Amino acid sequence: MLTPNMHYSDLKNSYLFYNIAQKTKAYLEAHPGTHLYRMGIGDVSLPLCKAVIDALHEAVEDQAKKETFNGYMPECGAPFLRKTVAGYYSKRGIALSDDEVFISSGASDELGDILDLFDRSSAALVIEPAYPAYVDANVIAGRKTVHLASDRKNGFLPDPDDSADADILYICSPNNPTGAVFGREKLQKWVDFANKRQAVILFDAAYEAFIEQDDLPHSIFELDGARSCAIEICSLSKTAGFTGTRLGYTVIPHELKRHGMSLHDMWVRNRTTKTNGVSYIIQKGAAAVFTDEGQRQIRENIQIYKNNAEVLMQALDKLGIWYCGGKNAPYIWMKCPGNMSGWEFFDHLLNRIQVVGTPGEGFGACGEGFFRFSSFGSPEDTKKAAERLCALLG
Ligand code: PLP
Repeated sequence: MLTPNMHYSDLKNSYLFYNIAQKTKAYLEAHPGTHLYRMGIGDVSLPLCKAVIDALHEAVEDQAKKETFNGYMPECGAPFLRKTVAGYYSKRGIALSDDEVFISSGASDELGDILDLFDRSSAALVIEPAYPAYVDANVIAGRKTVHLASDRKNGFLPDPDDSADADILYICSPNNPTGAVFGREKLQKWVDFANKRQAVILFDAAYEAFIEQDDLPHSIFELDGARSCAIEICSLSKTAGFTGTRLGYTVIPHELKRHGMSLHDMWVRNRTTKTNGVSYIIQKGAAAVFTDEGQRQIRENIQIYKNNAEVLMQALDKLGIWYCGGKNAPYIWMKCPGNMSGWEFFDHLLNRIQVVGTPGEGFGACGEGFFRFSSFGSPEDTKKAAERLCALLG
């Protein structure tokens, strides 16, 4: 009889989004027609920008003509897009060769697939609170996970120490769910730590486009020594509204070697075995994001989300509630008032002011007593939710 991957039974059930959906559904059944202010969503709400839509239309037309038709795309990405992404990095002073950029169908897919590069015996370190997929992908692979709790004292940005006894180090900056962003000095400590241990950092830069403070790194490759210890995984999902369109990119430098094996070359081998490339149409749409016009247009959308974050931050400032994030990230991570747990606060907000957020417990045990607001909702709802918060807690 076939033995399935028994590690699936080691997965902890994630009740987070299921519970949120159940509770909001029950509330709406009991209060038909009520409007909910959804401040919990991690999905974007604004459509793709015009430059992208135009490029997508043109690419569809290309596929209609024999002379411009494309079949299978190169597994590691279309040369035009790999070059474009490398050009985006070079504007920040990071020199990448085009073939160090791999085009993917998004960061989630890549965060799971990339684990093919590592032996099952290697342990993975997850800084918590964390995006839940990091732990689950390793549990499915039968890999040990080590949890490093972060807290208010370190601004949810812990330093490495000997308890971080692992070979794969996840760093998400700007962070989901806390919105905290590693500064250069702190991030350099992790790079040095990884090089010393010969570990590998998986740097999740899905929210880099939200950084507005000049001195904060957008990429781990801005740090000395990162080329020999890091892989960067990025996505256009939040940068340019590609959550339903699907495109990401991954950077693996040639210098990244362990036991004499090049992780870059291994990834080429992996992609050429396991994928047949990302759709031509979507890659054309993605390239438009990096044009001057595309950059200007996506910035307009990001600014709308940033204004939402500002509205929520002003409300919390007024209420004297501790929070982090919001400025360089689309998430605001707040301390629940009155020592409430995240779930208690969730119920309180839903029942009293019909505002929906995300309880911190869903991102790891140390998230207990915290709550995440997202800035991806509509400006109208965000403004009303902020007013309701002030009225309730003021
Ligand atoms: N990484 C982080 C930290 C995220 O929050 C998300 C999505 O919410 C992803 C990766 C996944 O992005 P994608 O849509 O590219 O799969």
